[in-house]
Amino acid sequence: FFGIANMAQRVAPDGANKKTSRVRVAVRLRPYMGKQDEKGEGPCVRGLDSQNLEIINWRNAMETVKYHFDVFHDEKTTQQEVFVSSVKPILPHILNGQNASVFAYGPTGAGKTHTMLGSSEQLGVIPHAVQEVFSLVKAKDVEDGWDYSIGMSYLEIYNEKVLDLLSPGSQDLSIREDKDKNILIPGLTHTTISSFSDFEKHFIPASLNRTTASTKLNHRSSRSHAILLIKVVRTQRTFPHRQQTGKLYLVDLAGSEDNRRTGNQGIRLKESGAINLSLFTLSKVVDSLNSGTAIRVPYRDSKLTRLLQDSLGGSAHSVMITNIAPEYKYYFDTFNALNFAAKSKLIVNKPFTRETVAVPVLPVKRAREDHEARGSGS
Ligand code: ADP
Ligand code: MG
Repeated sequence: FFGIANMAQRVAPDGANKKTSRVRVAVRLRPYMGKQDEKGEGPCVRGLDSQNLEIINWRNAMETVKYHFDVFHDEKTTQQEVFVSSVKPILPHILNGQNASVFAYGPTGAGKTHTMLGSSEQLGVIPHAVQEVFSLVKAKDVEDGWDYSIGMSYLEIYNEKVLDLLSPGSQDLSIREDKDKNILIPGLTHTTISSFSDFEKHFIPASLNRTTASTKLNHRSSRSHAILLIKVVRTQRTFPHRQQTGKLYLVDLAGSEDNRRTGNQGIRLKESGAINLSLFTLSKVVDSLNSGTAIRVPYRDSKLTRLLQDSLGGSAHSVMITNIAPEYKYYFDTFNALNFAAKSKLIVNKPFTRETVAVPVLPVKRAREDHEARGSGS
């Protein structure tokens, strides 16, 4: 009986730690934007149903490549719908001492920040999730027997450095692991929040501290991974006063575009290399988790995956929202993002649309030459 009087976070039963769980993969296509398509070529990607989409095959305009995902959100999907289908279902787990992570992946301009943050008219995943965590806690009645406390940290990984966004000017922080295999960052600001407006009070000014630099692709292109951590600690009101901690990571990843194309040089090239290291490692980790044959998951190979080690795979609940854009100028970045996200694809022998088959012989040819000039094999 006294064996369970453990004040630390409950350790999962034997074997449960070793189990790797899949990362659910959702793809969100943002609406077509005329101003992103100066040549008026139309979209090169389109949805088929709630799990499938297709993109024109640059090797052969008479073919499309069809991809299957856990969820496909088409261009008409609202912010609320993305939240309800991809994020809301995992939130109750963090009130039970389990961990979860949500990522927005994809090229700059494809809608990662729109999905995660949104705008004041169209709130994204972050404000919806924080509101939902507060209402889940409020809905717990007294008989539940636990007291809940909610806190937040906000950090970014920039050039493989871990920076505290709630404490501007702070130095690179180190990532540690405790004896129960929980990942922690000593010195990282952790603020208790008592309401959604309390959250906004800390979060909004900190968002503005994010390091950004302009590139040819986008003036405020983010070169860093922005990571919001919401922690729910619950404590049993009666003996043995067990305590459980659940962590939710909400991550707006750096752009996945091929930086050889943005004309980056010097410091930017260094940044690009580091960004690629974290994204490259993330792709290996997700791959290794989803292939189900993971012998060694390479969490330690980058800061991002090291930080997420206890909240990605294992007994954690994870979802990756891959954001894509429909215009031709994003073609190869979209193609790469889809290939990263998808484990299966199918070449379909049929035209994309009459219009795009008849018209874009030139664009497709040019895109291929571009691609070959960049020295990429597929
Ligand atoms: P990223 O963060 O991936 O670089 P953004 O979120 O900044 O991309 O999106 C680029 C532009 O497209 C922004 O102006 C954004 O408001 C708009 N946008 C992105 N996704 C959507 C969407 N689903 N609906 C409407 N506008 C969108
Ligand atoms: Mg962004």
